[in-house]
Amino acid sequence: MLDLRRFVRDIPDYPKPGILFRDITPILADPQALAAAVEALTEPFLDAKIDVVAAAEARGFIFAAPLAIRLGAGFVPIRKPGKLPFDMHSFAYELEYGTDELQIHVDGVKPGQRVLIVDDLLATGGTMEACCRLLEKCDAEIVGCSFLIHLVQLGGEARLSPYHVHSVLSYD
Ligand code: IMP
Repeated sequence: MLDLRRFVRDIPDYPKPGILFRDITPILADPQALAAAVEALTEPFLDAKIDVVAAAEARGFIFAAPLAIRLGAGFVPIRKPGKLPFDMHSFAYELEYGTDELQIHVDGVKPGQRVLIVDDLLATGGTMEACCRLLEKCDAEIVGCSFLIHLVQLGGEARLSPYHVHSVLSYD
């Protein structure tokens, strides 16, 4: 079994002093690591009858399409304001400094469809919580949230309660 941790590059003080950034680009660049990451993100949900994989731009998109194909599901993008052309739901959320907003097409996910949401990394949980709120507005059934990396000390998992949170690599 490939040790994916070997392919996560730690970058101190990025994007600002005091932050240790977990860089996943070495995983993306390696064919075996990329395949193993997609497999590990998907594995708990193989029999979960997922209709749609949803993800927020930009890094979530990278994994969402191969996961959707692996699960026999569709892909629905969640985007920053000004990017989606059709009618949309919006959700604004707090950042450390200021606010951010994500949007989804109103008809992207049909009521009752079973959705898996994927992202590269769970930190404070703000991004994934916003995705969950948008999918709740669509009346979707959120089956789970799948992450490649979970930064456990930032407490994001509690914000995603009561949903099933799966993470491939955890860092204390
Ligand atoms: P959260 O909203 O605080 O959970 O932050 C998660 C989002 O920020 C994800 O969409 C990540 O792509 C991004 N992010 C935060 N920290 C890192 C990191 O150390 N490496 C890669 N992405 C990060």
